[in-house]
Amino acid sequence: MSKNNCKPHNFKAHKTDFAGEPNYKCSKCEIIVSGWEYTWYQRGIDHGKEIEEEIEEEIEEEKDFINMFDCLDEYAQKADGLDDAIVGIVSRCGFPPVLCYSQQKIIEILMDRDGMDYETAQEFYDFNIVGAYVGEGTPMFLES
Ligand SMILES: [Zn+2]
Repeated sequence: MSKNNCKPHNFKAHKTDFAGEPNYKCSKCEIIVSGWEYTWYQRGIDHGKEIEEEIEEEIEEEKDFINMFDCLDEYAQKADGLDDAIVGIVSRCGFPPVLCYSQQKIIEILMDRDGMDYETAQEFYDFNIVGAYVGEGTPMFLES
């Protein structure tokens, strides 16, 4: 560990500077910073923690998502690139469970992500998404 470069610094109030403002010294690498530098450093650390928490949450959500697929039979098909439009799994006696997509969310994805206007997105949805039969595991589409 090079001097003045430990991570994270462990700042403690050190002494006051010429203007009477406290400065802070790292107890590990002995770097001394001003009050405002200390404040911004701590904010950076807090922000880093927030980002870490967000990433962990996303990982948890992703795990839930993967678990959801685990309870589906292997022949349940996905509509490519439309994971965000999945609203759940549809079950019916005598049939394998299949994924259910929201028509509204698909249209939104086609418009926002692919830049289609509403009419084109609707047409694409009708012909290429709802109109695609991929066997017994073909997804269902909720039009509400
Ligand atoms: Zn340090």
